[in-house]
Amino acid sequence: MARVGLYPGSFDPITVGHIDIIQRALTIVDHLVVAIGKSATKSPLFKLEERLAMIEEEIGPMAAARSVRLDVTSFDSLLVDAARQHDARIIIRGLRTAADFEYEAQMTAMNRTMAPEIETVFLPASPEVGFVSSTLVRQIAGMGGSVEKFVPTSVLNKIIALK
Ligand code: ADP
Repeated sequence: MARVGLYPGSFDPITVGHIDIIQRALTIVDHLVVAIGKSATKSPLFKLEERLAMIEEEIGPMAAARSVRLDVTSFDSLLVDAARQHDARIIIRGLRTAADFEYEAQMTAMNRTMAPEIETVFLPASPEVGFVSSTLVRQIAGMGGSVEKFVPTSVLNKIIALK
């Protein structure tokens, strides 16, 4: 049976930190679903369709190179319902800080209670990119700073084009 993993997030925008997690997730699943949660309240820098396209552009070739099936999609349901909808038995999350862990541990326990058949797998952030967050990228870009070290070139060009 194919091992299906779902990696949820807001990806506004996708960063080198997300890409690091995805590259490693591609080594443990046969089919990866990258799913943008629509319910995030923060006003986004990029529209949902733009974020989907940016993920597809960056991750498509990486998944193909590893012969992993890739779906880039969105959801506005409970995370466990989105995972079930895609037949994913694995939810992938990246862990950067102790604060991430506190939040994730609680969320994972509640998800596990609702959907015991789904396992959450935490991948520790790589030290080189573990400090990168989409929120800070948006703030830095909003104040005219350079985010070239934090996002892939295709995303950087779209951020520059926003100005
Ligand atoms: P952010 O928290 O940067 O706004 P998301 O909500 O899109 O990003 O995060 C989706 C998932 O990716 C979460 O599990 C988050 O912990 C993880 N993640 C985000 N940035 C990094 C990073 N730099 N290194 C490792 N994991 C990360």
